[in-house]
Amino acid sequence: MHELSLIQSIIDIIREERVKHGMNRVVRVRVVNGALSGAVSDALSFGWECLTQDGELKGVALEIVDMPLKVACGSCGLAFEPEDKHYMPCPACQEILGHDIQSGKELYIDEIEADV
Ligand SMILES: [Zn+2]
Repeated sequence: MHELSLIQSIIDIIREERVKHGMNRVVRVRVVNGALSGAVSDALSFGWECLTQDGELKGVALEIVDMPLKVACGSCGLAFEPEDKHYMPCPACQEILGHDIQSGKELYIDEIEADV
């Protein structure tokens, strides 16, 4: 499962950050998952549960924020959120091609909350 290795890298980053900032105990982690990131949020949650059953992150809540796809029309520049990832007609000028993706590809750790 692709998401399992993503979660593994997220856990590695959390460990590094924890040491770097001298965090005592991590209580909550928030991850932003874009609609086009290629990762399924449910699978990320499942991967997190699997990989944090033991050790320092045991019982830590993972919050996943789904980031919608946002594009700017390639013709008129209007920013909009297409309902479909493959067919995205501009609501203003009906242009289908050449849109600029503004957000939705990202997958990153937004916040690590810890007891200091
Ligand atoms: Zn347009």
